[in-house]
Formats: sequence, C-alpha cells, structure tokens
Amino acid sequence: MGTQNKTLACYATHLLRNYPLPKLILVKGQGSYVWDAQGRRYLDFTMGIASNTLGHCHPYWVRKVQEQAASFVHCSNIFAHENQAFLARRLVERAGPGRLFFCNSGAEANEALLKLTRLYGCRETGQEGKKYTILCAHNAFHGRTFGSMSATPQAKIQKGYSPLLKGFAFGRLNDLQSFANLIDEQTAAIFLETIQGEGGIHVAEPDFLRGIRKLCDDHGLLFLLDEVQCGLGRTGTFFAFEHSGIRPDAIAMAKGLGGGFPIGAIWVAEPYTDCFRPGSHGTTFGGSPLACAAALAVLDVIENEYLLEAVEGNSRPWIERLQKLAARFPDAVADVRGLGYLIGIALRDDPMRFAGRLCEKGLLAHIAGSNVVRFLPPLTATSEELDQGADIFEQVLYEW
Ligand code: PLP
Repeated sequence: MGTQNKTLACYATHLLRNYPLPKLILVKGQGSYVWDAQGRRYLDFTMGIASNTLGHCHPYWVRKVQEQAASFVHCSNIFAHENQAFLARRLVERAGPGRLFFCNSGAEANEALLKLTRLYGCRETGQEGKKYTILCAHNAFHGRTFGSMSATPQAKIQKGYSPLLKGFAFGRLNDLQSFANLIDEQTAAIFLETIQGEGGIHVAEPDFLRGIRKLCDDHGLLFLLDEVQCGLGRTGTFFAFEHSGIRPDAIAMAKGLGGGFPIGAIWVAEPYTDCFRPGSHGTTFGGSPLACAAALAVLDVIENEYLLEAVEGNSRPWIERLQKLAARFPDAVADVRGLGYLIGIALRDDPMRFAGRLCEKGLLAHIAGSNVVRFLPPLTATSEELDQGADIFEQVLYEW
C-alpha cells in the first residue's frame, strides 16, 4: 500500500468518526498555497478556517516560533514570562482599557466569556443563580464545549447532547426588538458574533450593534462579542466591531491570533476585570511562551506589512468582481456577502459539489451554513492571488 493510501486507511481505521473522512492529503504550505501528496498545488482560501492569518509558513513567523521553541516552550501560569506580558499589552492597546486571559481555542475563549457572565451576575446581585441568562442569536456558532454549544442554537451541533446548559435565549441577528423582547431581571449578557461565520457569513449591521450596545447599557447587561473568526484583521480592521464604532465589554479571540498555532484569549473591559479572582478560572497551556511568540509574530507582521490597509484596499475590487460575477450568473449565485477577506457566496445549488469543482480547478474553499461557499484568503494574499481565485470561481460558474 502506498503512503497515501496508508494515511487514509489509518484515518478510516483509527480516528473517531466525528469528521467526514477527508479526501485530500496535504503535505506542505507556502504563502497562499498548499500542496497535496501528489505534488499538486492549490490556492488555499480556507487557511485552516481563518487561522493562518499570514498564510502558510511566513518566514518571520517561522523564525520567531523556531527561536522560541529552541529556548522555552511551556511553563504554566504559575510563572511569568515576557511573551504573555507583552502580548497582553499589545492586545489592550488594540481593544482598550482592560485585561486579558489566555487559553487555547475559540470554544475555550467563549467558555471564559460565559463564566465571566455568571461571575458578573453574582457581583451585581450578591447571589448565585439570580442573573445569568445570556441572549444569543439564532444561527450563531460559538463552539463545541457544553457552554459554547448551548449558545449555538443549531440542531446539527446540539443533537444527542441534551440536557444542555440552561440560561440561554435567542433573538434574531439584526432584529433589535427581538433581543429587547427577551430581556428580564435574570438577563445578564448579550453574546454575538460580529459576523456569523459558520452560520453562512451574516454581518451584524452597525446600527444593530449600536442598538445592542444601548440595550446593554440601559439594562445593565454585558455586551460580549465572539471575534474568533472575524477578528484579527480579517475584515480590514483589527476587530470587526470597529466598523460600527462601538466597543463591547468583552471579546473572544482565537483562530487568527496564533497564525496557525493554537491560542485563544478573552479581553475584558476594565469595569468587569475584578469578576475573576485568583482560582476562579485557569488552564495549563493557555498563554504559553510558544503560543504567545506565535501571536506576537502575527501582530508584528500585521503592523510591519500594513496588512489591515492591504485587506481594506485589496478586498474592495475583489468583492466588486465577485458581485459582478454573481449578477452575471443569477441562476447559480444568490448573494455575495461579508467584509474584507471573510466572504460568503450563497449558491442556489449544492455548495459541497461547487466546492468540489473549485478544488478540481485548484482552489480550496470552505462551506458555511446550508448553501454558502466561503472564501478566507490569508491577510497576506496579493490582489493577483485574489484575482486567481476569482478566475477559478468564474470558470466553475461557466461550467455549472
Ligand atoms: N466561535 C466562532 C465564531 C467560530 O467560528 C469558531 C470555530 O469555527 C469557534 C467559536 C470555535 O473555535 P474552536 O474551534 O477554536 O474551538
């Protein structure tokens, strides 16, 4: 049996079946491209589900991670190290006055936000179990832990896991009244993705976010934003909520923060930082010297290579071209939506089959929601690479 067949046979035999069996074996990545085991090159608009911010193996990121791996990898949070200290400071500079907690993934970051909400409810009422309900959005995706899954009202995610965590209610994205109607004396927070990613790329409109901010202020609720997928420059601003001019009370980050290395974080605004006390939350690996070195390298490159400006500038003509293609092929494409390098193309037909055609022509893209093909180029993608992706998209539309 060849190595490739052996690899797939091991997948089929030894891995739990929580993912569909993958077809493509990838062996290396460089910049915006990956190569499969047969040496075929693909333009990668999946980027590890929006994680490889700088593309694959950016030389600066690789050097920083290699240097850190050779000197000091892990020490737990019993000790201090400068990478965690400086990463926290850099993120406070971006998010505003507040404090950071580091963890390892998006679901863990959201879990920390859910725990913050419980602590906040206790602080406000002086009692446990009085103020804890969190209002989330239909169609949201916040992760796979019990807490984050309970905030994710999708049958396919929750099936088989009941009883779920209690204390969640759901409004409709961009329908302020649907959230206002849910508020009662038990409500403690409103928790949203600034752009729903897995749910099919639905942008929370600036007016809606401003309205949610006001609702939270008027009713003494925490405003929590999940920027796990849309943050870290993906929309052309460091955080996606910056487009609306609001500031939330806490932010979850992960994916793009480490540029492909696992790290998650929450930022909590100053008035709420005292909710966490020594012992009230923690993790062994969160904020390790190595993970923080990876994240610091991401922040360095975003700044040194002016990637926010690049995403903002390059995405405009790219999105315009995708929209023009959508208008030319109305029988195939229902909508093009999103911001910056987080773009969803809603199809009228099977998105899996469409993504399969893109792959045959050398473009990797994810599916989102029930009918959306999602393009997530790295922040380093050039306008030529964006055009190359649009060319392949156009070819598939022609033949569809
Ligand atoms: N939140 C959002 C918005 C996500 O898109 C995801 C993952 O896709 C998560 C949370 C969960 O992150 P992780 O898979 O790192 O736990």
